[in-house]
Amino acid sequence: MAKIESFELDHTAVKAPYVRLITVEEGYHGDHISNFDLRLVQPNTATIDMAGLHTIEHLLAGLLRDRLNDETAQVRVLDCSPFGCQTGFHLMILGTPTVTQVAQALKRSLETIAHEITWDDVPGTTIKSCGNYKGHSLWSAQEWSKLILKQGISTDPFVRQVI
Ligand SMILES: [Zn+2]
Repeated sequence: MAKIESFELDHTAVKAPYVRLITVEEGYHGDHISNFDLRLVQPNTATIDMAGLHTIEHLLAGLLRDRLNDETAQVRVLDCSPFGCQTGFHLMILGTPTVTQVAQALKRSLETIAHEITWDDVPGTTIKSCGNYKGHSLWSAQEWSKLILKQGISTDPFVRQVI
């Protein structure tokens, strides 16, 4: 089986919340795709409940694009998907933004979720627009966002360097 970098990471050595650059892959035509680890809670210590994680996912999809997409810098968010272990997200980006840029965008997005979003702002909450439309919790998404912001987002996975 192919070796996956994320499974080589010592999950007992990291100090969440953090943003980590996993890989930059070069495509056949020279484009670069960056894969980031957005670790929101400490592995094997906490998990974000599915409903809260689901709502954070729907909100980050738009909020991170608003904050990171930049045609001049040739940066475009491709996807932000939750880890099955419910501790964070993979963020795939066309281009090569810095860890600090991603961490700042994540911080500002979580601030928006925590303090500005109402239920009407959450995209994809109908039977037509989501595969589990009843499985959302804005309350949980907001409580987790506040807790993550209180702990601060580090730009180093092993040493706390909070932005
Ligand atoms: Zn959904």
